[in-house]
Amino acid sequence: MKFIDEFRNPGLCDSLITRIHREADRNITVMEVCGGHTLALHRFGIAALLPPTIELLSGPGCPVCVTSRGYIDNAVALALSSGIVVCTYGDLIRVPGSALTLEQARAEGARVKVVHSPMQCIELANKDPGYQYVFLGIGFETTAPASAVAIKTASAMKMDNFCVYSAHKLMPPAMAAIINAGVRVDAYICPGHVSTITGSAMFYPLVEKYKVACVISGFEPLDLLLSILMIVRQIKEKKPSVEIQYTRAVKPHGNQKAQQLIQEVFNPCDAWWRGLGILPKSGLTPRNAKFDAEAKFSLSTGEPADPPGCRCGDVLKGIVKPVDCKLFSTICNPVHPVGACMVSSEGACQSYYRYANS
Ligand code: SF4
Repeated sequence: MKFIDEFRNPGLCDSLITRIHREADRNITVMEVCGGHTLALHRFGIAALLPPTIELLSGPGCPVCVTSRGYIDNAVALALSSGIVVCTYGDLIRVPGSALTLEQARAEGARVKVVHSPMQCIELANKDPGYQYVFLGIGFETTAPASAVAIKTASAMKMDNFCVYSAHKLMPPAMAAIINAGVRVDAYICPGHVSTITGSAMFYPLVEKYKVACVISGFEPLDLLLSILMIVRQIKEKKPSVEIQYTRAVKPHGNQKAQQLIQEVFNPCDAWWRGLGILPKSGLTPRNAKFDAEAKFSLSTGEPADPPGCRCGDVLKGIVKPVDCKLFSTICNPVHPVGACMVSSEGACQSYYRYANS
């Protein structure tokens, strides 16, 4: 706790806020692309402490939020099929598909198990050879290495009843797509967890091409305030660059072992993102078709639209704020989420609902 308290020191926070107010003398639009940052910015009330010259936008940083309805529909169909067990991280279970969530499908008899890691799915599959086990691999560069380890393990064990339905995604193509879509982004608060794996170099092309300031941030109030001050200074000095604020976890070269694992087990592929559509080479698919659920079960990749009125796609692009959706807090809330952005605690709509509502 003492360690965390150091990053929540009120005096130091005050000092940073004063400096930000003093130095932020022009309008700056800052987007965060990590669900953990979305949650922390709202939970700690940081947006309300910033000068009016700084606008915070939430981008496509919540894995559950960017995952398509078509993916959920396929996962539900698999879980309802005889002889198949679907294993998933907990957040995904309540994401609405076209007809059912995985939770609702489970209530109708589908075999859905919540696991803490893909290795837990391997253990279950190993003890239950009569069933095919499908792990729902979602998330960015952060979670892909765990899926890679599971696939390697299954391969070494010569398992034929385990595979991954991969919706793993890569962050830089989405960050570029946001700017290409015409959204004004002067700076990115770059994702801390993703960067522990990738390092900082993958953001260099964004700075070069779009002259956008990039700071890789931690998740505590002091981390985020210092990151915002670093952004303000980069923009003021007209020297956009990639800086690491989160130095206690992120190294410039990242985790090379994890990077090798991703490259060894996955191929880059085109992937669909809510709000952004299909982005070339923005996803990961298993190299070995034996462990690829899409190939193994011939899953189609159709993409149903979001429910009428739901503006999750625009929220994830930073075009609107959650409160601009007519369904926000009327019929859409964390207990009864209409769209994916209200499901996870890291979704922009749920963060606004719980902490900001402004
Ligand atoms: Fe979608 Fe609900 Fe957010 Fe509206 S408030 S954009 S329906 S998740």
